[in-house]
Amino acid sequence: MAETFCLSDFDAYGFDMDHTLAKYKLVNLMQLSYEAICDCLIQKSGYSPKLKDDIHLHKDFICKGLFFDAARGNILKLSHDGKILRASHGTRMMSEDEMISVYGTDLHWEHFHEAQRDVKCTGAGFKFRFFENYFDIPGAVICAHIVDTLDEEEGKPLEQYTFWEDVLVAMHTNFIPSAFTGNAGWFFPKLKANAKNYLQECSQGVKQWLKDLRQKNKIVFLMTSSGYDFASLVMNVILGADWQSFFDICLFNARKPAFFMNKTSFLKIEGGVEDMPVKTLRKNGCYSQGNLEDLTAFLSSQTDTQQPKVVYFGDSLCSDSYPARTYAGWSVVLVLEEMEAEGYHLTRHDLDCDDEQPASKVRQRQVNIEIDPEEESFLLSKMWGSFFYHEKEDTKHDGCMNTFWGRLVSQYNAIAIPIIEYIAGMPISHVYTRFGREVGSTSGFHPAKPKPLMPSKTLEISS
Ligand SMILES: [Mg+2]
Repeated sequence: MAETFCLSDFDAYGFDMDHTLAKYKLVNLMQLSYEAICDCLIQKSGYSPKLKDDIHLHKDFICKGLFFDAARGNILKLSHDGKILRASHGTRMMSEDEMISVYGTDLHWEHFHEAQRDVKCTGAGFKFRFFENYFDIPGAVICAHIVDTLDEEEGKPLEQYTFWEDVLVAMHTNFIPSAFTGNAGWFFPKLKANAKNYLQECSQGVKQWLKDLRQKNKIVFLMTSSGYDFASLVMNVILGADWQSFFDICLFNARKPAFFMNKTSFLKIEGGVEDMPVKTLRKNGCYSQGNLEDLTAFLSSQTDTQQPKVVYFGDSLCSDSYPARTYAGWSVVLVLEEMEAEGYHLTRHDLDCDDEQPASKVRQRQVNIEIDPEEESFLLSKMWGSFFYHEKEDTKHDGCMNTFWGRLVSQYNAIAIPIIEYIAGMPISHVYTRFGREVGSTSGFHPAKPKPLMPSKTLEISS
C-alpha cells in the first residue's frame, strides 16, 4: 500500500519565496542574470566584451543541475551513482571516447561523493560547482563560453583552467543582498526598475489557498534566504501590498541550508532593517537570519503541539529539501518546473490513485497553470537530455529515476509539483501518493509523472 501525503495533517506550512511562491518569468530572468554576470566580468575583471552575446543562442545548452568541473573546463551531467552521462568541453559536446580519455573507462567522477553527501553546490577548494537555481544557471553557459575563448586564444585546450573564482565573484557581486539595498551591481537595479517584467503575479486561487491554510492552531510562515527589502519588492508584486497579512510570521535572510544546522540568533526587523537579536519569536513579526531550534519553539507554542508537523514548500534540493528533511525532519513539497516542461503522462493510475476523482475534477480554486512555450524551450535541452532520466543507464528498464537529481528528488521530498498554483487549486484535504522508499521512486509526482519516466511501452499503448 503506497504511503500518502495530505496537507490537512500538518500543523505548520512554510514557504520559500524565490521560484516557489514567487514564479519568475524565466526567460527574462535568465537573460538579466546572464547579462549581469557577463557585464561584471567584462567591466570589473577585464574579460572581453565578446563574452556577452544573446542568451537565446545558448538556450539548448541551458539545463538545470549541470556540474562545472572547474580545473578541466568541462560541464557534466551525472547519474545517480556518479557516472558522467554527458559532458562538454566548453560548449562543445565530448564524444564517449573523449570522455573516457579524461575520466577513465568507468566514467566515474571523483567529486561525486562530496557533491551527493551534503548536496553541496560548491566543492572544497572550489573544485566544482553545480548550477541548480535559475539565478545562476546562466553561469554554466558563461563558464563554457570562457573555456571556448581561452582555448581559441591558446590554439588548444589548456592544461588547467583557473578563471572559476572570477565567475563566482561576479555572481556574488550581483546577487549579494547589499547590492539590492545599495542599488549596486548589474542585476538588482534592472530588476527593481521593472519587477513585473520578471515576476508572475499569484492568482486569486493561491491567495485564497494561503488564507484557507490559516486555521486555528495552524501557522503559515514565509522563510526565504532573500533579504527583507528584496523580498518586500517580490512579495508586493506577487501577492500585493498586503502580502504580510498572508503569513503568521515572516523570516528573511535565512541563510539556508546553514539555518538548519547553525545556532545564529534571529534578528528582529524594525523599520525594514535588522535590529536586536531575539530569542523568542512573536506572531506577526518579521525576523532575519535565525535557527531551527528557536523557530521550532515558536511553532510548538503557537500550534499547541510538542512536535509540530511541518511541511515546507521549496524549489532547491540543496537549500530546501535536503536540509529541511535531514536536519528538521520536515516534509517537503518540491516545486520543480522541469516537470511541466518535460510533459506529463496522465495514466488511469495517476488519475485514480489519490482520490476518487481526477485532479482536474476536484480543483477547488481558480489558478493559473499555463506555461509559456518559450520558457519551456529554455528548460528543455536536447544536448543534455531529461532532468529525471537517462535511458542508456536504465538497464533494468524499470523507468526509475537514474540521474543525480532524479534520485535526490525521490529521496528528500514527500511529493513534487510543477508549480505552486497546481496544489493551491486542490482541496487541502486531498490525499497524494508520496515518493516511495525504494531508490528512484516516481510515485510522488503530481499531477503526474514527467513523460521520460514512463516506460516506452506504456506510452505507445496509451497515446
Ligand atoms: Mg527558492
